[in-house]
Amino acid sequence: VGDLSANLVAVALEASGTQGVSRSSGLPDDLFAHDGQITKRPVRALALSALAPRPGEKLWDIGAGSGSISIEWALCGGTAIAVEAREDRAVNIRSNAAAFGLAHRIAPITGRAPEALTALEAPDAVFIGGGFDIAVFDAVWSRLAPGARLVAHAVTLETEALLGELHQRHGGELMRVEIAHAAPLGRYRSWEAARPVVQWSVVR
Ligand code: SAH
Repeated sequence: VGDLSANLVAVALEASGTQGVSRSSGLPDDLFAHDGQITKRPVRALALSALAPRPGEKLWDIGAGSGSISIEWALCGGTAIAVEAREDRAVNIRSNAAAFGLAHRIAPITGRAPEALTALEAPDAVFIGGGFDIAVFDAVWSRLAPGARLVAHAVTLETEALLGELHQRHGGELMRVEIAHAAPLGRYRSWEAARPVVQWSVVR
């Protein structure tokens, strides 16, 4: 398994006929071991753009899933703590970090926010891609220094409503992303819509 994961990126690149990894965020989903729960490429690019990584900065990636956000953050020169509730996904995070040669920059933590956050060193930026609720928000907000960034994504109406309230209270930018891909429809093609994602980004 170790050798497999170490070769994952090389194999995926070879399969795609490409050499080298793009310097831009929004890498192909296939470069990451995942079980379907992954922030998809175009939306991930928007997440990284809002997170605005600088070399040496520290990210909390909450609900890290495959760790793809942590990896793209670390590729920009920072370090990440990837908090993921499910052990099987934490395994993917570890193997993805190793495959990208970033095991020394990404610390996977198997646990649930907000409990898992207590012992962590304060971050420069936080991404919340899963498990967002008011308790997680309060725990994160109280740990952010002035100037630190928070970016949260919502897919459910409930989380979206909470982001709407928090945006009213704390400001920042609230954005809805609707993406559709062209897909076959009989002999023709049609737009296949992905679920809308709402992104809230705010500076403390
Ligand atoms: N950004 C990830 C995808 C996130 S999917 C990627 O690109 O791969 C959301 C994840 O949040 C799921 O893996 C789920 O297990 C995790 N999650 C949900 N609630 C959580 C919580 N309270 N603490 C930590 N992880 C949580």
